[in-house]
Amino acid sequence: MKKKYSEILNYLDELLPNPHCELHYFNDYSLLIAVMLSAQTTDARVNIVTKELFTKYPNLEALKEANFNDLKDIVHSLGNYTKKAFNIKEIARILVDNYDGIVPKEREILETLPGIGRKTVNVYYAEYLKIPAIAVDTHVERVCKRLKLVPAKASVLEIEKTLMKNILEEQWGRRHLQLVLFGRYYCQAKNPSCQECQLKDICYFYKKKGKKN
Ligand code: SF4
Repeated sequence: MKKKYSEILNYLDELLPNPHCELHYFNDYSLLIAVMLSAQTTDARVNIVTKELFTKYPNLEALKEANFNDLKDIVHSLGNYTKKAFNIKEIARILVDNYDGIVPKEREILETLPGIGRKTVNVYYAEYLKIPAIAVDTHVERVCKRLKLVPAKASVLEIEKTLMKNILEEQWGRRHLQLVLFGRYYCQAKNPSCQECQLKDICYFYKKKGKKN
């Protein structure tokens, strides 16, 4: 397994030497809200929406007092917009009322905020606080399962734990980003770029299905 990991990680370094978070943000809460909004949509779409959102409502107080229907209109293109608009207002309210407008660092507190789960906290930790964490999103899950780093039925938590066990802690944030970007731009759900991929020889998905692509 170690050899397999080093082959994959070396290839990711070659392909994505400077991975970075593609969500735009300017402080703690703007990242937290952007990650929450990114569920079931693309970062590019979220960036368009957050530009309008944070221009119109430039601080947490303004978001807390925002007109709910206006928030729904702003986030409409992201899908699940009623829930997402509610989450924005509620996150702003809780942060202003209970935490002096500062995003708390404790996972137990963060995960009580509406729309914020383990994956979002992991992204926030790795990206904003630089606390080592591996967020498993749909891209990371797909890549790990195609490469058989985890069993096909592994849960996201099992995937996270497997990656944490096999990757050096100081690399968690960077490897998460590389896996996300690899899944987003190379190993896509539909029509992955298998012919050019140097992981073909160790890829379970390719061996089973990719050869006919
Ligand atoms: S061979 Fe295809 S399916 Fe396998 S990791 Fe590469 S791009 Fe993904």
